[in-house]
Amino acid sequence: MNLKTPIHHLSGLSESKVLLLQKELNIFTFEDLISYYPFRYEDRTRFYKVKDLHSGLPNVQVIGRILSKEIAGEKQARRLVISVKDETGVMELVWFKGLRWIDKMLQPRMLVVAFGKPNEFGGKISMAHPEVEIYDAKAVRKGSLTLQPVYNSTQKLKNAFLDSKGIQRLQSALILQLPADYETLPKWLIEKYKLISRKQALQSIHFPASAEALDGATYRLKFEELFLLQLKLLRAKIVRGERFKGFVFSSVGSRFNTFYTEKLRFDLTSAQKRVLREIRYDTQRGVQMNRLLQGDVGSGKTVVAFMCMLLAIDNGYQACMMAPTEILAKQHYSTIRELAGDGFITCAILTGSTSKKERRRIHESLIDGSIHLLVGTHALIEDEVRFKELGFAVIDEQHRFGVEQRARLWKKNKVPPHMLVMTATPIPRTLAMTLYGDLDVSIIDELPAGRKPIQTLHLVESQRLKMYGLIRREIALGRQVYIVYPLIKESEKLDLIHLEAGIDHISRQFPLPQYAISIVHGKLKPADKEFEMQRFVKGETQIMVATTVIEVGVNVPNASVMVIENAERFGLSQLHQLRGRVGRGAEQSFCILMSGSKISREGRKRLETMVRTNDGFEIAETDLELRGPGNIEGTEQSGILELNLANLAVDQPLLQLVRAEVIELFDEDPHLELDKNRLLKEYFLRKETGIGWNKIS
Ligand code: ADP
Ligand code: MG
Repeated sequence: MNLKTPIHHLSGLSESKVLLLQKELNIFTFEDLISYYPFRYEDRTRFYKVKDLHSGLPNVQVIGRILSKEIAGEKQARRLVISVKDETGVMELVWFKGLRWIDKMLQPRMLVVAFGKPNEFGGKISMAHPEVEIYDAKAVRKGSLTLQPVYNSTQKLKNAFLDSKGIQRLQSALILQLPADYETLPKWLIEKYKLISRKQALQSIHFPASAEALDGATYRLKFEELFLLQLKLLRAKIVRGERFKGFVFSSVGSRFNTFYTEKLRFDLTSAQKRVLREIRYDTQRGVQMNRLLQGDVGSGKTVVAFMCMLLAIDNGYQACMMAPTEILAKQHYSTIRELAGDGFITCAILTGSTSKKERRRIHESLIDGSIHLLVGTHALIEDEVRFKELGFAVIDEQHRFGVEQRARLWKKNKVPPHMLVMTATPIPRTLAMTLYGDLDVSIIDELPAGRKPIQTLHLVESQRLKMYGLIRREIALGRQVYIVYPLIKESEKLDLIHLEAGIDHISRQFPLPQYAISIVHGKLKPADKEFEMQRFVKGETQIMVATTVIEVGVNVPNASVMVIENAERFGLSQLHQLRGRVGRGAEQSFCILMSGSKISREGRKRLETMVRTNDGFEIAETDLELRGPGNIEGTEQSGILELNLANLAVDQPLLQLVRAEVIELFDEDPHLELDKNRLLKEYFLRKETGIGWNKIS
């Protein structure tokens, strides 16, 4: 049997059911159907005693003898009530619908098995609309005591009798037809990890004979899912490496050396040095680099990126750096100008607001090679922007760009430039391994020396004065303060503190002329926003009241306090990003999380996490636990994370194991030519899309 067989070949499935399965569940082939796993199981492995029943239990089954039955109530309230007794007590089974049929089937003195959810009412235990069968000792001995699969179904499917039971029937029919030797993983792998066979696993995941059998099946199928995904990702990396030769930066030149020895005013951290070595290695061995650089806000990624760009320029290439917002692009531009000083390299900035004339000049100078380094926003990837020879491209806050945008940078040259994508939103290791499984990952996990960890406090409304006190004290010391609100206008429902009301309040607390306030929010015109920002940057104002527009980009080392209002409404990564705006100088900095006293459990956990740690990776892990992989910033719309069984939040150890195994496998057999890996090669050949063998020239 071929699992690619369309489901209309499954006996007993009408045309209309086939269409429904396709439309409602995306099930087209035998394989799709067999991989439609139950979402839970009902425990029919044991019988409960009446005295042990309570309303906290899920569906359970009980054996009892029918004592009596009666039709009670009138009209709407008419119901069939059957009392059932075992040696420990009596309970009631109740039906409001289908009375007649049940009434006929069940008679006093019968021994029955009732399966349903226990309710407690006035000290009595009952089950509404339970499933009832006449007790059959033989059937029980033959193994009807199982975990019963429950499948997700839809109303349309249910109407066509494809409810959970209906899907169960299809699955059991299909499983019977599976060939005994049906397998996707090579024998050596199965033996090495003591996996059960694929056929056995499918059988047990649909119809587990016991909890242990289910565990074995789940493990095997998760293993396979992660293994094949890693195989695909790492294969893509190999293919790319073979297809694209990279520029060779053969030497470390004078600009790099001058910068390092004369211009750089601080020592690089050992993490920064390590990353530079990793990139240096990548750029001299003739393959095209694709590297993700992760590091907390303020960990010094920009300097590293800049030095890499110098390396490219010294070797006769151009470099560019793309940022998601104009503010950030400008910031990078001025940082780079500052780092480099005059006459060192030729640098330009290109954004949406660059004038036509300047734009034309830049286009020309890029083509003739007189601009070494271009900083910019999306404007950078427009078609008119062409380089003489772009050797190194940096993308900052890469998760804010789509895949296509990244690809467009790639295509600026015949030979793609080395790519360094950076993110200050640390991604948990497991996610990185999957989401960026085809990239190399560098991590800066160390802050520059002399930085004091930011102190984070969580205050409730009644402690507001304490917060104001801290602000006054810091401003008296010459420092500056951010106060951030989640939204610009209060929605009546959400009971947020209005930004405007907040500003009123703050202006009264911190009056002129002693205190000056900058106000920045999303509704301002860009020019006004810039003006207000600059006042704060220059130190003309002490307080910046803002919505989250400041999340990226503002760099004011003198700012030492970050107040976040309604902090419970922000996600963890956003809170962490905001906090990263302070703590950039040598002074002690503070982050104050303001919230109401009523917060959801998850909200509380977020705030506790923030108070406990400054470590972006730890925060990212908690975020993953709280929200699941699909909701982590930067992972939206990523099909890769739509795993069927595995869960990246809990299956980290398995994922690590599997990835290491795949790496080892490719080291030994990069093209899957060995006979022992035949099944894996077939897996690729079967895939119509993605990176297949046929695409390799
Ligand atoms: P990131 O981009 O990772 O948020 P930046 O590169 O903007 O961080 O660095 C933050 C600040 O720290 C900048 O002012 C930068 O000049 C400074 N910096 C970077 N590396 C070091 C270092 N090794 N020692 C001291 N200061 C550093
Ligand atoms: Mg940065």
